[in-house]
Amino acid sequence: MTDFSAYQQQLLAMERELIERRSRLDQHGRAGVPADFEEQASERENDEVVESLSEQATAELAQVKAALTRIELGSYGTCVRCGEAIAAARLQAVPYATACTSCG
Ligand SMILES: [Zn+2]
Repeated sequence: MTDFSAYQQQLLAMERELIERRSRLDQHGRAGVPADFEEQASERENDEVVESLSEQATAELAQVKAALTRIELGSYGTCVRCGEAIAAARLQAVPYATACTSCG
């Protein structure tokens, strides 16, 4: 059995980072609305950016969590489409990759 503990550590670090990033973004989203209308308009645009960044963080966090579950279940590092092993170089670049380079 291949030892995935290095990837697991990396994924756990990513998970912590994403949770922190999302809570910072969510705090920003709850900040007060400025009284001035023009400021409100730019604040709304900014809110949309913050919201989409928060959604990105949530989506990435879900992938990271799924990868950690796959490590526990022993299915980590195997392509979900063809069942072949995912190349180490790919896992190093994207530790939560679910497909090999030919399928993904
Ligand atoms: Zn594959």
